[in-house]
Amino acid sequence: MQQEIVFTPFEQKANSQLTKQQITVLQVNLGKRCNLACSHCHVEASPQRTEELSPEICEQIIELINKFPQIKIVDFTGGAPEMNYGFKPLVEAARENHKQVIVRSNLTIYFEAGFTDLPEYFTQHQVRVVASLPCYLADNVDKMRGKGVFDKSIQALQWLNKLGYSSNPNLILDLVYNPQLPVNENFSLTPNQAKLESDYKKLLKTNFDIVFNNLFTITNLPVGRTKFHLERTKLYLPYLKFLESHFNPVTIDGLMCRNELSIDYLGNVYDCDFNQMMNLAAKTSSGEILTVKNLLALGSLDVIEKIQTAAYCYGCTAGSGSSCGGALV
Ligand code: SF4
Ligand code: SF4
Repeated sequence: MQQEIVFTPFEQKANSQLTKQQITVLQVNLGKRCNLACSHCHVEASPQRTEELSPEICEQIIELINKFPQIKIVDFTGGAPEMNYGFKPLVEAARENHKQVIVRSNLTIYFEAGFTDLPEYFTQHQVRVVASLPCYLADNVDKMRGKGVFDKSIQALQWLNKLGYSSNPNLILDLVYNPQLPVNENFSLTPNQAKLESDYKKLLKTNFDIVFNNLFTITNLPVGRTKFHLERTKLYLPYLKFLESHFNPVTIDGLMCRNELSIDYLGNVYDCDFNQMMNLAAKTSSGEILTVKNLLALGSLDVIEKIQTAAYCYGCTAGSGSSCGGALV
């Protein structure tokens, strides 16, 4: 008989509920439309998805960006955020307000009709590009992201380099590493970020003459397609238990949910993008759920005391920790 897997609730392990600090980061998910359909995608994005930011919500987010100088970073994600009509107006609103703008880009979108101006556009607006390249080997990338994705990603990185990315201090280019999805119970944590960054730098320079700033290692959280994959292979509970057994309390201070608001294409507010995907809404201390419209009416971004957590939070707190900016400790 299979042994029952027992979990410690995350809050108990963390020794208290996570609390919010002052909000300085706005992460906006512009929708689920993407030109790719990667196997590990926690958003379950694909070319067939149609859910995306409406003009009305886009206007409200621009108002939020204009109204709150405490927002230092505006981070655009998706799907492929560049595919939404509101992407450029949002970037320009943020830059006019002197915010750092991050785009989480899949790189291949620059080769699709209607989007070939993006690298020049990013240069012009000094957008920080955070690009997924889950491996420096073509086979592994194509297996996770689709045939031909590695070659296009390499061409896109060379294009960005030619425009000054990574050599000009105002044009930052970061890469993201996601481990392969587990296929058996030999789970492993993300490799050491500094060591992997050094390997990526050497290999990409030698083989493709590519340079970049930082490599972020990001753990696969059991959310979205990763969760479906784990459930299909009966690895969901063992993987969660593995993450729990590597809980590292030192990661708590740096968790991305501490100082960010995550906004979905409908204007709903969450503590992070993973909670957004799992429909776990952020709440005020009186238990109200929030929208961008509410925040504008309240005149404050700092209305959440306690962060909503779930078992998948063990993914952010295992080992060196994991966030949109990579390892935490
Ligand atoms: S992982 Fe990124 S590039 Fe891949 S389908 Fe999801 S949103 Fe698109
Ligand atoms: S999934 Fe990670 S970022 Fe989101 S609430 Fe949990 S610990 Fe925080």
